Amino acid sequence: MSIKNNINLLQQELSGKKCKLIAVSKNQPIEKIMEAYHEGHRVFGENKARELEKKWNELPKDIEWHMIGHMQTNKVKYIAPFVSLIHSVDSQKLLEEINKQGNKANRVIPCLLQIHIAREDSKFGLKYDELLTLLETVNDYPFVKVTGLMGMATLTDDASIIREEFARLKQYFDELKSKKFSKNIEIKELSMGMSADYPIAVDLGSTMVRIGTSIFGERTTKG
Ligand SMILES: *Cc1c(COP(=O)(O)O)cnc(C)c1O
Repeated sequence: MSIKNNINLLQQELSGKKCKLIAVSKNQPIEKIMEAYHEGHRVFGENKARELEKKWNELPKDIEWHMIGHMQTNKVKYIAPFVSLIHSVDSQKLLEEINKQGNKANRVIPCLLQIHIAREDSKFGLKYDELLTLLETVNDYPFVKVTGLMGMATLTDDASIIREEFARLKQYFDELKSKKFSKNIEIKELSMGMSADYPIAVDLGSTMVRIGTSIFGERTTKG
């Protein structure tokens, strides 16, 4: 299957579902990204700040760039001037730095808070109670806007485990949506679902899926 076919099929599948497709282009060369671009796709995700900055520099400026990977605070400065959404905020320190760099770039940076829902210890993210504590501090960061949550399910063939984890994430999302927070918090986006598990995520109310392999094929290097 070609990138062209893959992206068209996914667009079709997601149309009418109110779910945005983030084409995850990490480790993919410029030419492959341009194939998706020529099909009209404009939303791409990367997991490394320097790679994201490089691609932003080299590619057309009407692309919306999302940061989806774990971030070190010292890398925020490279993407603060242009990034559309950071999906992976998982600490106070990071939130503070995003605010600082947003201030420097004179823009409010939209962010999602990443919750840990998987069984693996290795996946990043906040526990739900940590997330609630963090939300209480967002008022102090005027150059940040928290627009929702992100989570990754366990890497498993067992669909019931994935379904249980995404359902829990959706429940957190619904709980937060109904609460009143400071004015730079507006919970409306739920980033869940990747190539292997996005049908379950969409079924459970995802508003953003992050899909790499099913568009671009296997990555040559790991990331
Ligand atoms: C790589 C990555 C994806 C996309 O994974 P695929 O299995 O290739 O679709 C989604 N989310 C995050 C955070 C990633 O790092």
